[in-house]
Amino acid sequence: MKVIVVGSSHGGFETVRGILAEKPDTEIQWYEKGDFISFLSCGMQLYLEGVVKDVNAVRYATPEQMRAQGVNVFVHQEVTSINPDEHTVVVHNLDDDSTREEKYDKLVLSAGAVPAKIPVPGGDLKNVYAMRGRDWAIKLKEKTVDPDVQNVTVVGAGYIGIEAAEVFSKAGKHVTLIDILPRPLALYLDQEFTDVLSKTLKDHNIYLATGQTVKSFNGEDGQVTAVKTDQAEYPSDLVIETAGIKPNTDWLKGTLDLTDKGLVKVNDHQETSQPDIYAVGDSTKVPFAPTGKELQIALATNARRQGRIAAKNVLGDDMKMPAVSGSSALSVFDYHFASTGIKEGTSAANGVLSQSVFVTDTTQPPFVPNEAGNQKVYFKLTFDPGNHRILGAQIMSKRDVTANMNAISLAVQAKMTLDDLAYADFFFQPGFDRPWNIMNVAAQKALQTLA
Ligand code: FAD
Repeated sequence: MKVIVVGSSHGGFETVRGILAEKPDTEIQWYEKGDFISFLSCGMQLYLEGVVKDVNAVRYATPEQMRAQGVNVFVHQEVTSINPDEHTVVVHNLDDDSTREEKYDKLVLSAGAVPAKIPVPGGDLKNVYAMRGRDWAIKLKEKTVDPDVQNVTVVGAGYIGIEAAEVFSKAGKHVTLIDILPRPLALYLDQEFTDVLSKTLKDHNIYLATGQTVKSFNGEDGQVTAVKTDQAEYPSDLVIETAGIKPNTDWLKGTLDLTDKGLVKVNDHQETSQPDIYAVGDSTKVPFAPTGKELQIALATNARRQGRIAAKNVLGDDMKMPAVSGSSALSVFDYHFASTGIKEGTSAANGVLSQSVFVTDTTQPPFVPNEAGNQKVYFKLTFDPGNHRILGAQIMSKRDVTANMNAISLAVQAKMTLDDLAYADFFFQPGFDRPWNIMNVAAQKALQTLA
C-alpha cells in the first residue's frame, strides 16, 4: 500500500509515526512545501527567549532520521491538486519548478493553517510580521536584538499574542497589546484570572489596548510606523499579527467538502468527503467533549490525536476520534495557568447553560512558608446546574498547578458530575498540596450553592 502524507507539522508527523509504529513496511511519501520538516511553533517562545539556542532544534524529526526508517521525505515540494477518481496528486517541485503526478492508495492531509491577515490598509508594509513556523521564528529573533525596534505592537491577545508580548517585553522593548475583546486571553480565562494577568502584563511594561479595533497600519517609505485603532494611534517599529488563523485549504476547493470557513469536513474517522482521503489538524474541526458538537480548536494535541487515528484507519482499523476538551496551559511571567472545556465566558457561544464557582486557596497548608513554594491558587469550576455535569475549569497560580486541568479534562470527557468530583480521591502531602484538593473544594462549594 502507498500512503501519501501532506504537511510535516504535528498532524503529518504523527500520521507518519503512527503508520511506522504499526506497519513499518508501508510505502510512505511525505510532502512538505517549506524547506524544513516538523518545526514546532509551540517551541518558538523558548527559542525567541534564548532558552533553546538553535532554531533547528525546535523539531521532532529530520529528513535523514525519517529516511532511515524508510520514509520518502520530499522537502520544498508542494502538493497542488488532487484527482480523487484517479487516486493521484500533482506535486510541484519548488527547487526546479517541475511538476509530476504521484499515485496513492491512501492520502492524509495535514495542511494546517497560516496566520490570518487583518483586512485593513497597510498589512503589506515592511515590519508587519506573523508568529508561526520557522521562517517567522528566525525573523522575529533578529528583531529582539534590533536597536531600531523600540516600539512593538502585537495585534491579538490570545495565546500567541501573549507569547509575543512577553518575548519582546523581556527583550527590553515597549510593547502594546491590542485586542478587539475587552480582556486579554478572553477565550481562555474568565475575568477573575485576567484581572490578575492584566496587572502582571502592565507591571512588565506591556500596554494593554483592549476593546479596540485596528483600522490601519500606517507607514513611511514602505515601512510600518504606527497602528491606528478606533481609539488611538500607537507608534510601532514592528507589528506582530496574532489575530487568528486561516486554513491552508484554498487548493482543495471543489475537490473536498469544506465548511464556510474553509475547514475540511471530516467524519469521526478523519475521513473527508472523498474515498481514501483523510484530513487532520488545524484545517479540520474536532469533537468537543462538553457539548458533543464539532468545534475548531487549533492545538497540537488535537492534531497529534487525529494523526494517530488517521494512521490507524488508513491501516484498516476502525477507530473514532475521541472527544477532546480543548485543554491548554501557558505561563505569563510569574503565573502559570491552564484551562479546559467551557468557561463562563464561552458558555453562550457553545449554546450551553452553565453555572460556575470561583475559589481561591493556598497550594499548601498555611504553615508552609512562601519560600517553600506555598502560593495563592485561583480555581474556577463550570458545570451544568441541571444535571451537575462538569463542563470545564480554569486554574492559575505562581506555583505550577496546571496539571490539575488534566484531571478536569478527564472528568469532562467521562461526563462526571459535581457529586463525583466533590469527594474524588486526590493525594495529600504538605510539600505538594492540601488535604482537600482545590478541585474537591470547588465541587463541594458548587453543591452547596445548588442545594
Ligand atoms: P501546521 O502546523 O499548520 O503545518 C502544516 C504544514 O503543512 C506546514 O509545514 C505547511 O508548510 C505544510 N503544507 C501545507 N500545505 C501543503 C501542501 N499543499 N503541500 C505540502 N506541504 C504543505 N498547540 C499546542 O497544543 N500547544 C502549544 O503550546 C502551542 N503553542 C503554539 C505556539 C505558536 C506560536 C503557534 C503558532 C501555535 C501553537 N500551537 C500550540 C498550535 C499548534 O502549533 C498547531 O495546532 C499545530 O501546528 C497544527 O498542526 P498541523 O499539522 O495541523 O498544521
